[in-house]
Amino acid sequence: MVLNRLTKFFTGASPHLSRVLAMKVFKRDQFTCQYCGLDGRNNLGNWMILTIDHVHPHAKGGAQTMENLVTACQPCNLIKGKRVFKSLQEAKEYVLARREEWQQKFEEQIKAA
Ligand SMILES: [Zn+2]
Repeated sequence: MVLNRLTKFFTGASPHLSRVLAMKVFKRDQFTCQYCGLDGRNNLGNWMILTIDHVHPHAKGGAQTMENLVTACQPCNLIKGKRVFKSLQEAKEYVLARREEWQQKFEEQIKAA
């Protein structure tokens, strides 16, 4: 099945996370970034940047459980990084605020170019 092959490919970068668990997370989240709302089902470009994020970072002891894993697009995952938050909601507020700042900087750079 194409979906399984894609999942296998795109979750290959995380050696600690089982592909079965990754697919469960994607399905629960309806292939949508839990930070910015990007829908991976809209087009291949969106699909290709979906990742699995550990809400409490894996590097800081975060569990490999459904409760601690969410679907995140690469930009949101990158922005969140290994920061520790009290909740997904707090992490989301941080990520969205940073995205807004980056968006404004981006627009300034484009205008200046
Ligand atoms: Zn996102």
